[in-house]
Amino acid sequence: MPERSRTAVAFSLLFILLAAAAVLMVSREATAGGRAEGGPVVIRNVRLFDGDRIVQKTNVVFAGGRVTAVGPKAAVPTGAEVIDGTGKTLLPGLIDAHVHIITAEALSQSLVFGVTAVIDMFTSADLMKALKADQAAGRAGGRAFFVSPGILATAPGGHGTQFGIPIPTLRGPADARAFVDDRVADGSDFIKIILDDGSAYSFSRPTLDMATVSALIAAAHARGKAAVIHAATLQNCRDSLNAGVDGLAHLFFDGGSDPEFGRLAARKKAFVIPTLSVIQGVGDQAMAIAVAKDSHLSPYLKSADIQGLRRSFGFRINPSSYRAAEAAVPLLKKAGVPILAGTDAPNPGTAYGASLHGELSLLVQAGLTPLETLRAATSIPAAKFGLAGRGIIRKGGPADLVLINGDPSLNIDATRDIVAVWKDGVRVNRERYKEEAAADRAGAAPAPSGRSPEYSRSRLVSDFEGQEVSASFGAGWMISTDTMAGGKSKAQMRLAPGGAEGSAQALLVVGETIPGGASLWAGAFFSPGPAPMTPADLSSTKVISFWARGDGQEFTVMIFAQSHGYRPIARPFAPAAEWRKFEFPFSDFGLKGDDIMGIFIGASGKPGPFSLWLDNFRLD
Ligand SMILES: [Zn+2]
Repeated sequence: MPERSRTAVAFSLLFILLAAAAVLMVSREATAGGRAEGGPVVIRNVRLFDGDRIVQKTNVVFAGGRVTAVGPKAAVPTGAEVIDGTGKTLLPGLIDAHVHIITAEALSQSLVFGVTAVIDMFTSADLMKALKADQAAGRAGGRAFFVSPGILATAPGGHGTQFGIPIPTLRGPADARAFVDDRVADGSDFIKIILDDGSAYSFSRPTLDMATVSALIAAAHARGKAAVIHAATLQNCRDSLNAGVDGLAHLFFDGGSDPEFGRLAARKKAFVIPTLSVIQGVGDQAMAIAVAKDSHLSPYLKSADIQGLRRSFGFRINPSSYRAAEAAVPLLKKAGVPILAGTDAPNPGTAYGASLHGELSLLVQAGLTPLETLRAATSIPAAKFGLAGRGIIRKGGPADLVLINGDPSLNIDATRDIVAVWKDGVRVNRERYKEEAAADRAGAAPAPSGRSPEYSRSRLVSDFEGQEVSASFGAGWMISTDTMAGGKSKAQMRLAPGGAEGSAQALLVVGETIPGGASLWAGAFFSPGPAPMTPADLSSTKVISFWARGDGQEFTVMIFAQSHGYRPIARPFAPAAEWRKFEFPFSDFGLKGDDIMGIFIGASGKPGPFSLWLDNFRLD
C-alpha cells in the first residue's frame, strides 16, 4: 500500500501544495485601506480588555500606528476622529497561534476577522522569506503580522514531506545542528519539529526518534530559538515535554488521558496550543459548521472558506479523541500552563480568521473562563512568540485593535460581532471585503480546488497490470476501514493473478468486517485528487465502471463528495464467482461530481470475512 497515500490522510495541510505558486502572489495587495495611519483616533467610553483584564469605561487614543494614551482622562487631540465606544469592547488584535500561511491573501483575510497577528507553524522557506521581507520593509500593510519557522524538522518520509515543499529530512541526531543552523540562516523565528508515527490515526509512517528530537531542541536553544513540536499522541507529548520542548503545537489526537499531564507541562515550563478546532474537525464538523453559519462571520466568508469549513479529513480518529483533548484543557489551566488559541487553518474544517472565533468558543466549552480565553488569543501568544508589543493595549504599543459590540468577558461569542479592526493604526476596510465576499459567493464558479484538466478526460484509471497497485491519476488506491472511526475491521489489498477480460492481474481485497465501532466497513479506496480526500473535479464522468468477482456476498460502492461531508452515497452490488462488469451511472448518485474526494469499493454493514477481486476500473 503506498505510504504516501496514507500519510496524507490526516493532518494534511492540503493546500500547502500551492505554497510555491503562492510566492508569486506575495506582492499582490488585498484589503488594506481606510484612513492613513497618521490621523489620531479616539475611542471614548469604551470597555477595554487590555490583554490581561477588563477596564470599564475608558478612552484609548492612537496616532501614527501607535497607542498614544489610555485612560479615563486621556485628552482628545484636536482633529481626532472620535468613536463612541458605549456598549462596546476594545481588544488587542487577536492572535491565531497555529496556522499555515500559504498566500499573502491569507494574512489579509485574517485581519478582516480581527486576527492581526498569526503564528505560522510550517510553510515554504521561500514564502516565509518573502512575507518577512515585506513586513520588515513596511510593505505588509493590510496583512496580519506574521512569524514562522519556515520548514519543519521531520524524518525521511515523515509527516510534512507529503505536501510538495522541499524539506531536508533528518536521519538522526547528527543532522540536528545543521538543520537548525540552516533555519536560522533562513530567518526562521523558531524551530518546528514533528513527532508523529501515524498511529493516532490508524496508519503508520516514519518519524524522528527521541534522540533526534532532543538534539533538535538542544540545537534550537543553543541558537536562541524556541522549539515547538507537533506530537500526535499523549506519549509523544509527554516524551517531548520531558525532552525540554518549549511548546506543544497541538494537544494529542489519540484519546490519551493522564491526570498528571497538566502538572508535567507546568513543571517543564511549556506552553500548549490545544488546536481544539482541528482535533474536533477530524471527528465531526460541529464548530466548523457553526462558524460557517454564524450571522456575524458568514457575510465575510468566500466560497472557498465555506468549502474549507465543510471539508473533512475524510477519516475519523477515535471518537473519544476530542473529548480527551478537551478534558486536558482544565488540567493545563489548573496547573497554570500557558494556553494559546490556535486553529491550524487552513486544514479541513477551518478558515483563516473566522475559525479563531470558533476556537475561542471551544476553549470556553473546555473550561477556560472567557477572560482566560481572551488572554489565550492576545497577551499569552504575544509573550511566548515575542510579537513586538502586540497582544496588549498600552501606551507606545502598536495600534492593533479590535472594537466589538458587547462584553466578551460575559459571552465569548461577542468577539464575532466586530465593529472595526485596526492594524498598526490603519483601519481595515471590512466593508469592501464584505462586498468582495458576497460577489465571490454569488459568482461562485464552485470548487476550483480539484479542477484539473487531467480529470476531465474519460479514462481507464487502473487495470492492475503493473508491479504495484497504481492509478493513472490522483493519489491512488489505499485501504480504508472503520478503524478510522474506532472500529476493528481489517483489510489488505494486493495484485493477484487472473484478471478480467483475459488480463493477467486483478486487485484482490481480502479482509474481515468486525463489529466494535459505530459503523462497519473495510475495502479499497480510490482518491482522484492530488492527495487523499482532496476534492477532484470528475463532473465530466458519466459512468463509473469496474469488473468484479467475489465470494457470493453483497458489496458496496460509496462516493465521498465534499459537498456531502462524511456522508457517503452508497450503492450495493453483488459479484458472483465469475468476472462480471458493473456500471454505475454517475447521475444515480445525485452528485454534480465536481468535488469528489474518493470512491470506496468493499464490504460494509454486516460482519464477516470477505474476498473481492476488482479489475479495469474506469471513469468514462
Ligand atoms: Zn498545523
